[in-house]
Amino acid sequence: MSELIFFKPFFKQVLWGGHKMKDFYGYSIPGDDTGEAWVISSNPHGQSIVRGGTYDGKSLGELWEHHRELFGGIEGAEFPLLVKVLDANDHLSIQVHPDDDYAFRHEQGGQGKTECWYILDCQQNADIIIGHRAKTRKELEQMIGEGRWDELLRKLPIHKGDFFYIPAGTVHAIRKGTLLLEVQQNSDTTYRLYDYGRLQNGEPRKLHLRQSMDVITCPHMDQNTAGPVISRGGYEICTLAEGPYFTVTKWNIKAEASLEQKYPFMLIHVISGEGTLDDQAVKAGDHLLVPAGYGTIHAQGHLELITTH
Ligand code: ZN
Repeated sequence: MSELIFFKPFFKQVLWGGHKMKDFYGYSIPGDDTGEAWVISSNPHGQSIVRGGTYDGKSLGELWEHHRELFGGIEGAEFPLLVKVLDANDHLSIQVHPDDDYAFRHEQGGQGKTECWYILDCQQNADIIIGHRAKTRKELEQMIGEGRWDELLRKLPIHKGDFFYIPAGTVHAIRKGTLLLEVQQNSDTTYRLYDYGRLQNGEPRKLHLRQSMDVITCPHMDQNTAGPVISRGGYEICTLAEGPYFTVTKWNIKAEASLEQKYPFMLIHVISGEGTLDDQAVKAGDHLLVPAGYGTIHAQGHLELITTH
């Protein structure tokens, strides 16, 4: 008998963290400097743990290892995705990730990273960095060499509900006052391009300029992946991104909806509201796995969901 599998997040305290995850979702965070909740994670540095049901107390990594049938028997040493909620109380460093090919060649067979961000909440006049303004690779190297960061980095205003698709090779950074949901390839390969000249314990953090310049897409190309909002009886649905690593869909349910799980696995992130999924109560901040072969999920209530497969 197939069941919905709910997870408890792994929390990470960081210099730039805050307490919005407690304020918004009632999470018992370890401190007022909680920057990351790894809500769907099989990463050995922090696993999400099943809450209730048949698999209570098991980690996602254990399910992946010993219950591959829950994931339709798909191949792979690691669960392919990592999903986090991030609460940024300060600017994060400016980063770029390599693609699979570059990571494989330069990072001991590692994986690249494509990711996406859904803005859960942000302060007024908040912004984000996506992309850069150099027209050629030569100009990119020149601007980086001369430290012309304000000119180079592309700052965009953000609002609650905005979505950004960030393929490997895209310069990106989260900035102060932003709470977001991040869906990404399960990989650790990150190159730091710029850290605002800040010091940590008296030292600047390590930058990876050479690797960054190798992998940055030049010129930057905006990726507007979101499809139209389609209105159906009782709910609206919008495909935010459909790519080789993940498909992300937004559901705005006003009364009820049927969600079909026809993939090896599907993740559901409850963004706001409350209601039920097949008679199980859910509320904002819940993150769950719908296993292979589950069939149709009946959702009721006032719910904003993000689904990923
Ligand atoms: Zn990133």
